[in-house]
Amino acid sequence: MNEKKIAKERIKKLFDLSREEALKENWGKSRKYVTLARRIAMKFNISLRKYKRRFCKKCNIYFTSKTVRIRYQKKDMRVTYTCLMCGNVQRYPYVKEKLKKGKK
Ligand SMILES: [Zn+2]
Repeated sequence: MNEKKIAKERIKKLFDLSREEALKENWGKSRKYVTLARRIAMKFNISLRKYKRRFCKKCNIYFTSKTVRIRYQKKDMRVTYTCLMCGNVQRYPYVKEKLKKGKK
């Protein structure tokens, strides 16, 4: 296993841990794990694309039903993720998401 692969495994583990802590409402720990995962990703130049909708880019909280509000806006084909912890809004195209799901 090379370094990058190990780093990827660690990132995966950190997101899992972050999710667990978020579900227990340990916001501080949850944020810490996401922050760490992002730091590792940056260091090893790893894309967090597959995780990007799982956490708030601004405050690093892991998204659970208690930390995010997801709205599908059919009119302009967008999905908005509103972080309930810091109010940050992330918008994604709705079409792409549908296509991605279809591919799986
Ligand atoms: Zn936030």
